[in-house]
Amino acid sequence: MTTPDPAVLLPGATLGILGGGQLGAMFAAAARRMGYRVEAVSDVADCPAARFCDRVHVGDYADTGFLGRVAAGLDVVTFEFENVPAAAGRLLADRLPVRPHPDVLFTTQDRAREKAFLVRHGFACAPHRVVRSRGELDAALRDIGLPAVLKTAAFGYDGKGQAKLVAPADADAAWAAVGAGPDGPRECVLEGWIDFDCEISVVAARGLDGAVAAFPPTRNAHAHHILDVSTAPAGLPDGVQAAATDTACRILAALGVVGVACIEFFLTRSGEVLVNEIAPRTHNSGHLTIEACATSQFEQQVRAVCGLPLGAPRLVAPAAMANLLGDCWFSAADGRPREPDWAAALAVPGVRLHLYGKTEPRVGRKMGHLTALADSADAAAALVVEARRRARRGRMGK
Ligand code: AMP
Repeated sequence: MTTPDPAVLLPGATLGILGGGQLGAMFAAAARRMGYRVEAVSDVADCPAARFCDRVHVGDYADTGFLGRVAAGLDVVTFEFENVPAAAGRLLADRLPVRPHPDVLFTTQDRAREKAFLVRHGFACAPHRVVRSRGELDAALRDIGLPAVLKTAAFGYDGKGQAKLVAPADADAAWAAVGAGPDGPRECVLEGWIDFDCEISVVAARGLDGAVAAFPPTRNAHAHHILDVSTAPAGLPDGVQAAATDTACRILAALGVVGVACIEFFLTRSGEVLVNEIAPRTHNSGHLTIEACATSQFEQQVRAVCGLPLGAPRLVAPAAMANLLGDCWFSAADGRPREPDWAAALAVPGVRLHLYGKTEPRVGRKMGHLTALADSADAAAALVVEARRRARRGRMGK
């Protein structure tokens, strides 16, 4: 008989997840199906993960006493968002396995640190400069040229904390909007604007034993800086697909990730694959793996953080995912929210509905998503887009 590896957490163990959003909810659903207990840490009790967890601890990450008490009941901790304060991560890592390690979050939660990591390891990314003052912005613009985009180094997501510059005269407004914070200048990164052919991403996992498994790249279309539709296969030339997949796996290894991470890329018109962002967690562009892959990104996160063998990331059928933002609730003339017509959406054959249980729809808020499988990625995309259109139109017709 072989002795069980004490680093491997078998079903029955209690998994902690920091964050109570939809990524935490889908992680918890996968973990509970596999026989684990799941406890989420959230700032609100009524969070999407609450519907799937054994317990939600409501509190503040800055409260060390609270975090210590939570940690005492857990066997491992993982994340569903990256803006966990470094001190909270360190406190937890002193008490129990935190996967991925908080050092990974420290690198990826700040664009300047993330870019420095990419450059240090030779991963291609957009030309950029770190900017800490209005004067440094002018110097960076001379180096990088126009168009360019100014981004806050910390706490930016879905295009928040960003300003595009197309003419030298835009510098003042960009700095005022992004760099000049209420409490003094914020560290920013100025990036050259990439005239990309498309945006793609690779969700990959790395196990405790260093094994890596990458899901097929998805092609991602954004609307107003927020992911709109993801499709797989991404329809990429073989060389591009291999380069993106290989880069993603090497980034997970270089960061020492144990868990799941998503690498977002720009594919330039000349066929170059440039890293845009790293998210050390499951990702919106990986939601289609629930229906379309042999293992979902959420089961893969459970397997990776528990030290289990990784599942097969194989694509079972071409698929598409369309996000359902709060906007879908708000297109009536009176401006009041109304529930979309889900029956109309689900009349589109093969479409699957995921709603996250958020009670308050807001414009731009991710409320759910639709997934469809079909004979091709384009056909699957047509199904989810049609289903979303019917959900909106059906409601407006009432
Ligand atoms: P980010 O939050 O950095 O992922 O940016 C959000 C979106 O803005 C990206 O998905 C792109 O569509 C666009 N974007 C960001 N940076 C650049 C860039 N350097 N060049 C072109 N588009 C960009």
